[in-house]
Amino acid sequence: MLNIRCFPLGELQANCYFVTDEESGVSLLIDTGAPSAEVEKAVEDFGAEKLEYLLLTHGHFDHIGNAAAIKRKYPDVRIVIGEKDSDFTTKDTLNLSLYFDGTLEHFTADILVKDNDELPFGKNKIKVISTPGHTSGGVCYLIGSKLFTGDTIMSCTTGRTDFPTGSIRDMMRSVARIAQIEGNPEVYCGHGESTTLDYERKHNMFMRKDGYDDLY
Ligand SMILES: [Zn+2]
Repeated sequence: MLNIRCFPLGELQANCYFVTDEESGVSLLIDTGAPSAEVEKAVEDFGAEKLEYLLLTHGHFDHIGNAAAIKRKYPDVRIVIGEKDSDFTTKDTLNLSLYFDGTLEHFTADILVKDNDELPFGKNKIKVISTPGHTSGGVCYLIGSKLFTGDTIMSCTTGRTDFPTGSIRDMMRSVARIAQIEGNPEVYCGHGESTTLDYERKHNMFMRKDGYDDLY
């Protein structure tokens, strides 16, 4: 069974998730925008050597800002990002840190993923779903019945599409694709509260057919 803890970090309170699988003895982090003693304590309490991945949902500074420091502290962790966002880890005009405080420490991801890639995680699989729109290389990660959506889907809304490489048309396609995922996964968003896919199918205006048709 997966255990998920959420740590909203930094000025923009981007959610960092610490995911553990007690049974398989593995853990991973999803997004890390700012340093956090609580996150490091959680990692170390579970066992730093069990930390397998740092999954990045996309390349904006509030989600990747602490990745270089995590890699330095836990050198065996593999940093994962969508291949089309690979430049974001070194280009401050793309990751937007240039317009914020400009202090993002650059790094290179270890694994570049694309649509439908799968990564092993103990007895589970991490399924990569390409969801361009907020950024061209944005991805969602589906682990069992838990869906991590970054800034693609937040409770009852989507992320902005007016930043570099963003696209409203791509976003609408990505949201429609997420709506088609089978079952009712819990949805863990890049900012704010978690939700469920059924709830979003009913209430997210970008996901409801009657809502997004009006936007074209
Ligand atoms: Zn973002």
